[in-house]
Amino acid sequence: MPSHLQDAVTLNNGVKMPWLGLGVYQAKEGDEVEQAVQAAIRHGYRSIDTAAAYHNEEGVGRAVRQAIKDNGLSREDVFITTKVWNSEQGYESTLAAFEKSMDRLNLDYVDLYLIHWPVKGKYKETWRALERIYQEGKAKAIGVSNFQIHHLEDLLKDSEIVPAVNQVELHPELTQKDLLEYCGSKGIRLEAWSPLGQGNLLNHEALKEIADKHGKSVAQVILRWDLQNGVITIPKSVNKERIAENGNVFDFELDAQDMEVIDRLNRNRRFGSDPDNFNF
Ligand code: NAD
Repeated sequence: MPSHLQDAVTLNNGVKMPWLGLGVYQAKEGDEVEQAVQAAIRHGYRSIDTAAAYHNEEGVGRAVRQAIKDNGLSREDVFITTKVWNSEQGYESTLAAFEKSMDRLNLDYVDLYLIHWPVKGKYKETWRALERIYQEGKAKAIGVSNFQIHHLEDLLKDSEIVPAVNQVELHPELTQKDLLEYCGSKGIRLEAWSPLGQGNLLNHEALKEIADKHGKSVAQVILRWDLQNGVITIPKSVNKERIAENGNVFDFELDAQDMEVIDRLNRNRRFGSDPDNFNF
């Protein structure tokens, strides 16, 4: 069980990925995203999750380089994830999209490159491009996002490399137990996006009770539940206090009963899009 914000999980290729990182979806390019990334790294975060589609890779790259300087770190101390967007999927177009992301980030490599969504008829070609990017050492690990079990089964039939990570919507009302078990059996690490249900779960009565019992916030309880389930998590905030709060989940433990209560909140409820029915 991770006991520190900088503790990392070893992925299926030996690469170490921090258990908890900062998500920057909807953090505005420029000052907003830069301040958030710098605050996170100052507070001890070592992982940042962006995507070409977030239109803030430049700011993320700039902030990471600055934070490395300011905090006496090296590039290897920070874990950067980005993703190829749907309109760029396909073999050659993904290779080109990756180079554009690298230019915007202005980094020599990324730690994790993901297929953002399983675009029908395209994701296998996209995966071949990711395999090449990985083999060339430009991404230390490659993975997918929003893949259901059937997408993974289909991909694994034709791939050389097993994805290191599958990043999916996961929170107490969408616990993804089948996917968690399936990914576990294949050596694919599950990562939770919208872990806080985009902020919608923070007034949940059952979660509040558990939070009060531990003297923690609901956000902290949910993030701790992720970690105790073996799930990597990337809460988003651009607010310094909340960034600090979300990283402060390593000094308490949910007991078996807490875990069970939270697991039972599942309603298969999505706040985001359905990977089997999206039109973008
Ligand atoms: P989230 O569940 O992390 O919720 C974020 C919102 O919750 C914030 O905007 C803020 O208003 C609120 N919040 C955060 N911390 C709080 C706190 N301590 N107290 C009170 N309110 C708090 O939602 P998200 O941004 O959708 O998901 C997190 C990250 O996951 C994203 O930033 C992005 O990096 C990633 N993501 C990936 C995909 C994908 O398709 N792969 C989709 C959505 C998000």
